[in-house]
Amino acid sequence: MKAELAQLIALQNADSNIRTLQAEIESIPQRRVEIEKEFDQRAFEIRALEENRDTAFQERARVEAEIFEQKQRAERADRNLMAAKKPDEYTAAIREADAARKQISAFETQVLEQMEVFETAEKELAERAPEVEKLRGEMEASFKAFDEQAKVQQQQLEVARAEHERLLRELPKTTSALYKRISSRIRDGVALAEARNGACMACYMSLRPQIMSEVRRGAEIITCDNCNRILYYAPDKKAAQPAGV
Ligand SMILES: [Zn+2]
Repeated sequence: MKAELAQLIALQNADSNIRTLQAEIESIPQRRVEIEKEFDQRAFEIRALEENRDTAFQERARVEAEIFEQKQRAERADRNLMAAKKPDEYTAAIREADAARKQISAFETQVLEQMEVFETAEKELAERAPEVEKLRGEMEASFKAFDEQAKVQQQQLEVARAEHERLLRELPKTTSALYKRISSRIRDGVALAEARNGACMACYMSLRPQIMSEVRRGAEIITCDNCNRILYYAPDKKAAQPAGV
């Protein structure tokens, strides 16, 4: 019977391992998001610079397209001017060409401004390139370590599950059925409780001296009257803390 109790304790350890690992594995996406968030905060200034640079680039392209249109408009006006036969046609063509050229000039100033914004951002990004490189390296290392840890936890979970199956197979059918019944009924799934100092260590209910001595003897499976867990006695713990007992 003592060996059976030892197996039950091992089974309980495997099961609590399984629960811990499952919780860790379930929290992987959340923990990944947290790593991303941390680096996002640190990369905030860099990202702002990159956004400035990209916006300036897009804005310049947009203004250049406007210039192209205005140039066509000016050319059209020039052609109309050449073909003008009446004074009002002539005046209208001159006015149109003027308006187009004014627009072109304003847009060209905008192009220069956007080029300056772009170059300033580029220059600062180049200066901070080592910092960006370091940050990227740290982030990659962080994710790599995280993935590695997740892989190890997955392997540990498989080992613990195999251990769980093996122990359940090795136990007598009635004992394994009892264990399964208790662990499925108890909220935290912990089917065993240590009996120490005359009490059940799971529910803290006092145990009668006779029960205590039966548990200590370990000749049969004793369950707690209050929480129904299988009681076991761990002499090692007593030896480790003689003063408190
Ligand atoms: Zn109890």
